[in-house]
Amino acid sequence: MVLADADAQRRGSCVSHPSDASCIFCKIVAGQIPCFKLLEDERTIAFMDINPANPGHALAVVKDHHPTIDIIPPEALADVARTAQRLARAVLKALDPPGLNLVQANGEGAGQSVPHLHIHIIPRRRNDGLMINWQAVPGDMAEIETVYKKIKAAL
Ligand code: 5GP
Ligand code: ZN
Repeated sequence: MVLADADAQRRGSCVSHPSDASCIFCKIVAGQIPCFKLLEDERTIAFMDINPANPGHALAVVKDHHPTIDIIPPEALADVARTAQRLARAVLKALDPPGLNLVQANGEGAGQSVPHLHIHIIPRRRNDGLMINWQAVPGDMAEIETVYKKIKAAL
């Protein structure tokens, strides 16, 4: 259930955000559960992932409870993208990894376990075996064109 700002204020938050009482990231935003907080601004927060895929795995999280990419307002997406870039720069500077991936999952089928929009910042190690990368295999042009037409028609 998404609570309106007024409800959040009644619950005693000094800064209110659309939130979901059962959401773990809303609880982190509200300071109800602890995290290794890297930064916080008016509309975003960033902290270390509790199950790091690699050392330095961090999360950029929008404060408002927007579950997925299709429904988050573009301005909020821009806010969290800015925070992800700040984090990425800090991770590159602090850890000097050979590379870094940003991952953003939407829906169960994509592996999203917390339905509150966030971007993973994952520093890579050589041969770390993470399953983010895939082999480039040339596609079937007719199949690409069929799907292309469907997506283009939906824009
Ligand atoms: P998703 O699976 O939705 O793309 O990513 C959710 C991430 O949140 C996971 O990588 C998971 O380890 C992390 N996570 C889940 N619960 C907590 C928590 O209580 N604290 C922190 N810091 N990270 C969490
Ligand atoms: Zn939430």
